[in-house]
Amino acid sequence: MAEKFKNLINGVWKDSTEGNTFENRNPAKWNEDIIGIFPSSTKEDVDEAVAAAKAAFEKWRLIPAPKRGDILKVVGDRMSERKDEIAFEMTREMGKVFAETKGDVQEGIDTAYYAASEGRRLFGYNAPSELQNKMNLSFRVPIGVGGFITPWNFPMAIPTWKIFPALVCGNTCVFKPAELTPKTAATLIEIIEASIKEVLGKEYIPGVVNIVHGKGRIVGEAIISHPDVDLISFTGSTLVGKRINEVAGGDLKRVSLELGGKNAQIVMNDADTELALEAVLWGAFGTTGQRCTATSRLILHKDIYDDFIKRLTEKVNKLKLGYGNEPETQIGPCVSESQRQSVHDYVKIGLEEDKANMICGGEFATDGELSDGWFYKPTIFADVKPGMRIEQEEIFGPVLSVIKCSDLDDAIRILNGTKYGLSSSIFTKNVNDAFKAIRDIKAGITYVNGATIGAEAHMPFGGVKQTGNGHREGGWTVYDFYTEWKVVYIDYSGKLQRAQIDNY
Ligand code: NAD
Repeated sequence: MAEKFKNLINGVWKDSTEGNTFENRNPAKWNEDIIGIFPSSTKEDVDEAVAAAKAAFEKWRLIPAPKRGDILKVVGDRMSERKDEIAFEMTREMGKVFAETKGDVQEGIDTAYYAASEGRRLFGYNAPSELQNKMNLSFRVPIGVGGFITPWNFPMAIPTWKIFPALVCGNTCVFKPAELTPKTAATLIEIIEASIKEVLGKEYIPGVVNIVHGKGRIVGEAIISHPDVDLISFTGSTLVGKRINEVAGGDLKRVSLELGGKNAQIVMNDADTELALEAVLWGAFGTTGQRCTATSRLILHKDIYDDFIKRLTEKVNKLKLGYGNEPETQIGPCVSESQRQSVHDYVKIGLEEDKANMICGGEFATDGELSDGWFYKPTIFADVKPGMRIEQEEIFGPVLSVIKCSDLDDAIRILNGTKYGLSSSIFTKNVNDAFKAIRDIKAGITYVNGATIGAEAHMPFGGVKQTGNGHREGGWTVYDFYTEWKVVYIDYSGKLQRAQIDNY
């Protein structure tokens, strides 16, 4: 019998009001392995969760921030203790290999400890008054109820990037995770709830964190349009992000959007090509290419083009596909049947519409045990031209487009030529070229002699152009999103002092 999971609303684990459910299965062992049954929730469930979060906010905001930080410290400890177990289950749930799911949990642990320490900072600013016997202060205050909507590719790290800083700042939470990764999300909320109870003891507040499972167009829509939700933090596709911006932004909610990418790695003719090869293998095919920061374009200098492609193809053809919890596996499945089909549809676009030159992959991988999962052969298109659809649109699978460039300016022009701007990379030993690339690449993140992936939790994360709406997660910057500035003027002169009037 598959395990049954529930929503957490106002401190109570409960079924959805209508009792409907959905199944979660292992994308590598589809027929064999059911992970769990989850509530398919309704607008009423969201209403209840938002009411709980709203009531909880009035108490939670009064818990001192250092104490809220203490809770996050316990959350980090519990996640560390359970790291391997959570990673194993995450691999079962969404397919990426165990080493990567462990990294995903570690990112959550790092974010928890950062948030824990931020509880003792959350710095404000003081500035001198222009009048005598008057003091000017400014400090951060929480905003209210946060709605958090997340994708399936980083089922632990992404929710923690949002929920941990939001909580430390004094906000409460209504969380809708992706339908494809509800178990990791449920584990996260179970850990947070238990940690709140452990640290607050008799002062425990129900409803600080709530999780409502279900469909984007029902549960997600109910959250983004709810009048008592004060802020929305969303990570997912650009299409859904635009819809959220319309609905939630239209209601003047504070909205943070982390959206798609079409990231490129440049390799110049003076680069360490062996290192660049390793990086592109990791950047393009790690997480089966299903990362917002995945290397989906490789821009090669003309002098090294043919040799690099030959060596890359040899390596790609040797990658071992399989179930990510088996130690020899290098590449897991696509997350779902429809995701694999969408990847395959893009390969057809590459062949038929773009007339690009496919040099490996391009089909489902179905040998032996792979036939029970959504596996896709790592695919490379060579001689891709700027402007082709496979060069412009996010594919979100193990497909790499290789483009030839003539020099650095050409490479940067090609790199910048999409509507996205998340991550980027350049391999070169020429320090002048590296600095020029850092200056001219239009992206939120640039790696020099590193793959396009590998962000660290204490640094700002996010992109430019249609990758988002200008906010950043991670590091210190995310705390700006989860707080309002309160400014206080204290006049101890004992008389009416008029700024700008009495002193000039
Ligand atoms: P998605 O946009 O389909 O779904 C994301 C979430 O939104 C899910 O929880 C889904 O249920 C919900 N949703 C769907 N429709 C909704 C609606 N109308 N209202 C409210 N919520 C709704 O994305 P996905 O397939 O889960 O994830 C892949 C996408 O996420 C890719 O485009 C990828 O680039 C992006 N992503 C971006 C980042 C980043 O930080 N920039 C990180 C990871 C993934």
